Amino acid sequence: MGRMASLDSTNDVDVLIVGGGIAGLSLAARLAGQCRVALVEAEQSLAYHTSARSAQQLIPSYGPTPVQDLTRRTLVTLRNALDDEGRRLAWPSRFMLVGRRGDVAAEAHAGMRHLEPGEARALSPVLREGSFEAAALDNDSVRTDAPALLAHHEGRARQGGVAIHLGSGVHTAQRVGDGWLVGAGSEAFHAASVVDAAGAWADDLAVVFGVERLGLQPYRRTAALVSLAEPLDPESPMVAAADDTWYFRPDAAGALVSPSETEPSRAEDAMPRPGDVERTIRLIRQIADLPVTGIVRAWTGLRTAAPDGVPVLGFDPEAPGFFWLAGQGGYGFQTSAAMADHAAEQLLAGPDAIRTGAHPVSETERALDPHRLSVRR
Ligand SMILES: Cc1cc2nc3c(=O)[nH]c(=O)nc-3n(C[C@H](O)[C@H](O)[C@H](O)COP(=O)(O)OP(=O)(O)OC[C@H]3O[C@@H](n4cnc5c(N)ncnc54)[C@H](O)[C@@H]3O)c2cc1C
Repeated sequence: MGRMASLDSTNDVDVLIVGGGIAGLSLAARLAGQCRVALVEAEQSLAYHTSARSAQQLIPSYGPTPVQDLTRRTLVTLRNALDDEGRRLAWPSRFMLVGRRGDVAAEAHAGMRHLEPGEARALSPVLREGSFEAAALDNDSVRTDAPALLAHHEGRARQGGVAIHLGSGVHTAQRVGDGWLVGAGSEAFHAASVVDAAGAWADDLAVVFGVERLGLQPYRRTAALVSLAEPLDPESPMVAAADDTWYFRPDAAGALVSPSETEPSRAEDAMPRPGDVERTIRLIRQIADLPVTGIVRAWTGLRTAAPDGVPVLGFDPEAPGFFWLAGQGGYGFQTSAAMADHAAEQLLAGPDAIRTGAHPVSETERALDPHRLSVRR
């Protein structure tokens, strides 16, 4: 287990959250003031990894059924949320699939409206006539300002007494009494429950606790801001290829584009590869007259998923007090408030509450439960 900080300087908490991305910060804000909470983040700043690299879109029709349920609940919370200056943290921003008829039919979820190409072109005039057969529109999709949302959660967490420790990567852990003694950076924590919100490193963190991996796999996804000779209508929808080969949407700088790749990676500080963005622009230009003049900025993040593509939330079946909040894949923002609600309720109810029936489990919570993952059986 390596070096272990001495008990003399131990921070005693009820819940230790590991990871300062959208998952960890949403939960910290939700638990603030209700119990003693600390959050540790390995990097020198919060949300350095995937949570700083998203498309900031919340799409109710996107993802498997439990994700759609979490997204609907998250939207109810975020639609009413304001930052300290009274600015909205989320606002309407439509999402549209385009492509071959069969691909659109296969990808468009219930709740999306099917459109003829002419109707789609009226919404996004850069789409070229005759370049696609069908479209489907999600009218309830929402954009968020990810940095503002993250800052909002951080503020609420700190105001509620959550101690946030930066540059504090968890390196050691052992079961002591009825809790965990955890070494993070130069600090030591004694916690009744530890929350694994470590994103791409969630399985690696489990190993530090002697907990079996769940088979969580990080996948690369690249995005870029490109400048345009003529701006897009800011009200025009985000447009995605129904065969999952690209998406674009208007942005203050011009447009945000992505090759929509899902390529397995190890947990790392992922970087774009030369040519990725240029290839994406070429693909988009087969369908849309996007007048790209240059690449402003490109980045790559890791979307980390469980083998069944559904996020993982709940106490580990075998390690007491070890709580998973991981595997959010491409849905980490759109599920964040509902995931934090479920996690907070289960953590406050305690590890035995589900087994004893004190915490009645909803269908969605059952779908998220780490027990389901066959790797462990
Ligand atoms: C290009 C792209 C577009 C996306 N678009 C969307 C979108 O439009 N909508 C949406 O909902 N989602 C989107 N996503 C997905 C979303 O960004 C992720 O699901 C979400 O950010 C994951 O958040 P997280 O908190 O789980 O992980 P992270 O943000 O990676 O946070 C985990 C943190 O844990 C820390 N950590 C790891 N190990 C340790 C340790 N041992 N000790 C301490 N700290 C540790 C890491 O440093 C990291 O800061 C997109 C992702 C990408 C890459």
